Amino acid sequence: MRFRADALQAVEDKAFDLCVIGGGATGAGCALDAQLRGIKTALLEAGDFAGATSSASTKMVHGGVRYLEQAIAHLDLRQYRLVRHALIERRWMMQNAPFLTRPMRFLTPCFTVRDVIYYGVGLKIYDRIAGDGGFQPSCFLSRDESLSRIPALRGDLRGTLAYTDGQFDDARYCLTLLETFTACGGEALNYARVLGFERDRAGKLTEAHVEDQLSHRRFTVRARVFVNATGPFADAVRQLANPDLSHRMRPSRGVHLLLARPDFAQDALLVPRTDDGRVIFAIPWLGRLLVGTTDDLAEPNGPGPVTAHEVEYLLRHVNRYLRAPLCKDQVVSAFAGLRPLIGNPERSDTKGLVRDHEVEVDPQSGLISILGGKWTTYRAMAEQTVDAVQQRLGVPRTPCQTSNHPLAGSADYTPDFWEKLAAGYSLAPETARHLAGKFGTVSTAILELCRRSPELALPLAEGFGALQAEVVYSVRHEMAVSLEDVLARRIGLQWYGWKEAVEAAPTAASLMARELGWQDSEKRAAIECYTARIHQMIAAAGLKPAKARSEKEAADGGGPAWP
Ligand SMILES: Cc1cc2nc3c(=O)[nH]c(=O)nc-3n(C[C@H](O)[C@H](O)[C@H](O)COP(=O)(O)OP(=O)(O)OC[C@H]3O[C@@H](n4cnc5c(N)ncnc54)[C@H](O)[C@@H]3O)c2cc1C
Repeated sequence: MRFRADALQAVEDKAFDLCVIGGGATGAGCALDAQLRGIKTALLEAGDFAGATSSASTKMVHGGVRYLEQAIAHLDLRQYRLVRHALIERRWMMQNAPFLTRPMRFLTPCFTVRDVIYYGVGLKIYDRIAGDGGFQPSCFLSRDESLSRIPALRGDLRGTLAYTDGQFDDARYCLTLLETFTACGGEALNYARVLGFERDRAGKLTEAHVEDQLSHRRFTVRARVFVNATGPFADAVRQLANPDLSHRMRPSRGVHLLLARPDFAQDALLVPRTDDGRVIFAIPWLGRLLVGTTDDLAEPNGPGPVTAHEVEYLLRHVNRYLRAPLCKDQVVSAFAGLRPLIGNPERSDTKGLVRDHEVEVDPQSGLISILGGKWTTYRAMAEQTVDAVQQRLGVPRTPCQTSNHPLAGSADYTPDFWEKLAAGYSLAPETARHLAGKFGTVSTAILELCRRSPELALPLAEGFGALQAEVVYSVRHEMAVSLEDVLARRIGLQWYGWKEAVEAAPTAASLMARELGWQDSEKRAAIECYTARIHQMIAAAGLKPAKARSEKEAADGGGPAWP
């Protein structure tokens, strides 16, 4: 991608065939699909790319064993179809970006023979639907074998049922989709909010009124077709296009915790039942344990921080299955997101809503909205949306090319790529693994920055693989403009630990200041604003506060950091 200022110039008051609104998984997928079919496309995102739901998922590439259970229990064909489609997509999603995805084994605890039969039969059906996708089939593990894999599990279990799904880095996957899109000639711009539309005599949308969220300057983007890919916020854009449209979305809030429990396991734990009939996962994630999630009806106006009540809820339910319980003091970070669910007048709760998608074409304004869906099905959703775009453009439908299109960083990538990096650039294994797992073969671009400026090869934070060069790269090539853009979605440090992110903020801010021409006062304001935001999240979650290091302490590499 370009430097943001250049991207702004490339879309400001320009004309395109297609304008995609929303820079999460769905919008990025639509933009890539359209551009690959030769449709000149611009994507506009109101906040940061992947700044909403698409970086707040459980990070599973999956069909959904819970949805399969619902399909069988209620003989629900829609749920069944969703699982089947998602299992087909699971394969493409993993193949197209192997460095951002990996198989993950999930263990479901069984305490009775009935549990073994019930989950065993369900998971065999899951295997059957998935077909031969290169995933290990499900199997029963004895009590001893289960405890050797997850030592914290309660000792009175009979065993576990193990099955395999995919795991991925959601924020980086979205950025990689956008990188692939712009490499094919598309234009993407973050911090560009669509505020309204212009129409022709027939009422069809012709241009979007956009506000640059950094300068608050307004401009327009003309397009022959507009796609609304704004996930949980889709109703607001639908109503900008046509105020007569009624609400369709029923967003649901889901939260996750990250815990410092490196001893927990290599495998993930599936907690099969909560008091409110959900499942919870505890999944190893980049050196932390990711625990989630909840499912509560929410308003479509930003999820807000994770609350102390939600922390207690998740820990209480997982701890029912553990002899070595997880505790609040081990929580090092947390995040919340809104599921973009389509409402169903017959259901008052959100957990029973099907995670299905729908392409809606508004005949009056011509707006195409892609509603609902899951991360795992983003590609199929984009394919159907772009089919509808071609119909609106009045051009023949051309074949979709995304099912087998390696994303940026995937060409020539092999599982031992990190070893080549380590040998070629004399890197520590954890640094090489970190770079390969975030950037694939694009890692060499970051290492070239280090070759030119060796001080950029210093680590950004202790115990975390990221290099300072990644901050520079994310500003120059990934349109990062704030500390949170860098420390959360580009580098992932904010999810590794709030403490580590607050400690790294002064260093990251100094690097960003050089790239973006910040004055000292702007740099200080950026650090203060970021630190205050993290402190708010910590306070909302009912945890102990983090103490920021001063710039001087950060430069000295010492000083008190975390009480
Ligand atoms: C707790 C939780 C766990 C999940 N776990 C999984 C999982 O493990 N696997 C899976 O497959 N799926 C999972 N999902 C679902 C998945 O994350 C979502 O389906 C997916 O991320 C939705 O992407 P999206 O692009 O539609 O929405 P978003 O990522 O929310 O993107 C919409 C974007 O539109 C932008 N926007 C809004 N209004 C405007 C405007 N006026 N102008 C410009 N831009 C605008 C927003 O800023 C936002 O960035 C989970 C969801 C949640 C909440």
